[in-house]
Amino acid sequence: MSRTDLGPPDYREMLPPIIKENYGQWQYHEYVQPGVMKHVSESGAELFTIRVGSPRLVSLDFIREICDLADTYCDGYLRFTSRHNVEFLLSKEENVQPLLDALKLKGYPVGGIGNAMSSMVHTQGWIHCHTPATDASGIVKAVMDDLFEHFTHMDLPARLRVALACCLNMCGAVHCSDIAILGIHRTVPRINHDRLSKVCEIPTVIASCPTAAIKPDPQKKSVKINEEKCMYCGNCFTMCPAMEIMDPVNDGIAILVGGKVSNARTGPMFSRLAIPFLPNNPPRWPEVVDAVHKIVEVWIADAQTGERVGEWINRIGWERFFDRTGIPFTDKHIDDYIFSVPTFRSTTNFKW
Ligand code: SF4
Ligand code: SF4
Repeated sequence: MSRTDLGPPDYREMLPPIIKENYGQWQYHEYVQPGVMKHVSESGAELFTIRVGSPRLVSLDFIREICDLADTYCDGYLRFTSRHNVEFLLSKEENVQPLLDALKLKGYPVGGIGNAMSSMVHTQGWIHCHTPATDASGIVKAVMDDLFEHFTHMDLPARLRVALACCLNMCGAVHCSDIAILGIHRTVPRINHDRLSKVCEIPTVIASCPTAAIKPDPQKKSVKINEEKCMYCGNCFTMCPAMEIMDPVNDGIAILVGGKVSNARTGPMFSRLAIPFLPNNPPRWPEVVDAVHKIVEVWIADAQTGERVGEWINRIGWERFFDRTGIPFTDKHIDDYIFSVPTFRSTTNFKW
């Protein structure tokens, strides 16, 4: 196998021997208990997976500790899932209970498998990124604290996937999660003309705008924004620090519902807008926690077994979804881009 210093290493180099030996031959899997899954191969080999929630932003101590546990109980093999769970992969059944006991002793939550809530996939938030309209880890902590029992039990109607992206450029999975928390800006970037002419490349700034809202302003050696075309995405700020978009009063959160990646029963679905705006209210974001809690509660009471949030809404209809959750339906829920004021979609720039 050739080696380069570009990209991730070949995944086959890191597979546990039992997975390599039984590759393509797994016959079925079953949930042994919350957080524990058993895969059985045609050869009769059994692989046990124990899933543990992680806060995503983890310390070196945490990494050392889970690596020590993996060395002791599963020949050093573990993996991170795309939703930031840690999965220990065990080839010996006799190690399952001792590892569960060790995890309990250290206070690590075991769960997230089957009809349970998985860890929340989320983005960088105020810790790291430059365009967030809200935080990531802070809200995720508050929401997960509220929904924690659904991680450690398998008593939901179906899987529950919750995601957070701190801006609509969206490094998270908000387009395809049952419930999505999305940071939104609501004001046009503020141009600092003096600074822009010194620190930004004007053609790059213009090209960065997905709605072609930015045009040159030769007199000022700067740019101007057509405010009606701006969708407050912050892409221009990514390219140019003189296009500040953060706004402590007007930035906040939208909640979307009904997305899924899975092909089971029905095809994948995109999430759709449920709540257009909730305020940023750190450190515990009570409005967001309450809104997510309410949607989950009504879904649990109303959904049939196996029905994901989007499938439940499709069955009862959006009108009943708004009625039963008590979420007000407003003009913000109507996608009227084409028929209202001239916008990107009604211009010659709209090509699809
Ligand atoms: Fe940055 Fe937006 Fe990604 Fe958050 S979602 S990390 S603000 S690009
Ligand atoms: Fe264009 Fe987005 Fe900047 Fe608005 S925020 S001007 S849509 S790049």
